Amino acid sequence: MAFKKLIASVLARSPLPLITRRAHRRQLSILMFHGFASGPLLPYENLEHKHLEVAKWRAFAGWLARVYRVIPLSEAVDCLERGKSLPDYALCVTMDDGFRSTHDLAFPVLKELAMPASIYLATSFVEEKRPIWVDRVSYSLIQAGQGYADLRTVKSRLKCQPQDQIEQAVAEIERQTGHAMPLNVNDPSLPATQRSLDWGQIIAMRDSGLVEFGSHTCTHRIVGRCSREVAFDELRNSRRLIEERIGGRCDLFCYPNGTPGDFTPESEALAREAGYRSTLTTVAGWNAANASPFALRRLGVNNELNLTRFQLTVSGVMARIEGYGA
Ligand SMILES: [Zn+2]
Repeated sequence: MAFKKLIASVLARSPLPLITRRAHRRQLSILMFHGFASGPLLPYENLEHKHLEVAKWRAFAGWLARVYRVIPLSEAVDCLERGKSLPDYALCVTMDDGFRSTHDLAFPVLKELAMPASIYLATSFVEEKRPIWVDRVSYSLIQAGQGYADLRTVKSRLKCQPQDQIEQAVAEIERQTGHAMPLNVNDPSLPATQRSLDWGQIIAMRDSGLVEFGSHTCTHRIVGRCSREVAFDELRNSRRLIEERIGGRCDLFCYPNGTPGDFTPESEALAREAGYRSTLTTVAGWNAANASPFALRRLGVNNELNLTRFQLTVSGVMARIEGYGA
């Protein structure tokens, strides 16, 4: 581990990050965040490292503001749709799901830096305070004493199931383990990281002019693994609700899970039919200046990264070493 750390810090100080960052300067970089945490969390509060400690966020965002041109995702989509060139070093910040911490912890830093971001809401998480089904699975397995490896196996198996039956599958796991997550994320027994945004916070962030909102489905179902009808309902109903609640347009979409197979050519057709002009995936990589605004690639950021690893990831050094994003 110490050796890996040493290599990372040597690489970070070398000219390599500058070279790889320059190589990607005419491409669009899109970063994927989830939630944020005020300090270190217990393992069960941050099992998949998706809540980033705010001190790291501050350092990461400060570096981005210095060396990238951070633009709203909608502005990048405008360029891609019209064949207009992107600014050099264009980068978008995106945050998935709609965690309350995006308002409480990430937004103050966005304001300080005047940095735009796009947040993708799973509407039943925000509107009904229903936990996202993947978090319910994590909760049941953790409470039942399962390790991280078991959790990943169960979840990846579940993610391939027909999503129309996901509710029953999750209920079955809860029954078998004897541990069911409370069906309201404001339940006092749950860690604060589980809380969702409310519409007042969403409107306040939107009114700042810095944050825009897109859809991430209603129930976080994996669109490419649903029937056509269910997928279309997830796409259309989430968009309608967001537009109604914020009193403005919502035409950006982000696929839950978002790996190849989680979205298909039919998913894209349905997203267009439901009125979206862009979709995001979790496929790692950069987007060419002439890319379609559908099925855009992103670079994932989580709490396992320190500033050095973050810089090596965003600048493209890790992609060269690990062979992704080509
Ligand atoms: Zn998500």
